Amino acid sequence: MEEKKFCQKCGAEIAKEAEVCTQCGCAQNAGGVNQKWVTTLLLCIFIGTFGAHRFYVGKTNTAVAMLLITLLLGWLGIGVLITAIWALVDLIQIICGNFTDINGQKIAMK
Ligand SMILES: [Zn+2]
Repeated sequence: MEEKKFCQKCGAEIAKEAEVCTQCGCAQNAGGVNQKWVTTLLLCIFIGTFGAHRFYVGKTNTAVAMLLITLLLGWLGIGVLITAIWALVDLIQIICGNFTDINGQKIAMK
């Protein structure tokens, strides 16, 4: 019995061992931890207050908002407080696998 899997991007049925979708060319994560998830997590932890993880997943509008809040209100100490809480909420969502990219796709650990 041949197992099937589906493209993470376009949903096309592809061979289980395929690393690249034959329909759209999107790279598939074969087994290991999702590199995008790891990168998003690390960006959020280290420079999340600058919206780095949101820039990374394409959510530019909210990323710029975070960056501006940090930079413009940072000297008051308020901006960093706001974005630190914001980044913490994002971090929890990333860890839980509920954080989405610009296309609304969840960025899961695997
Ligand atoms: Zn595809």
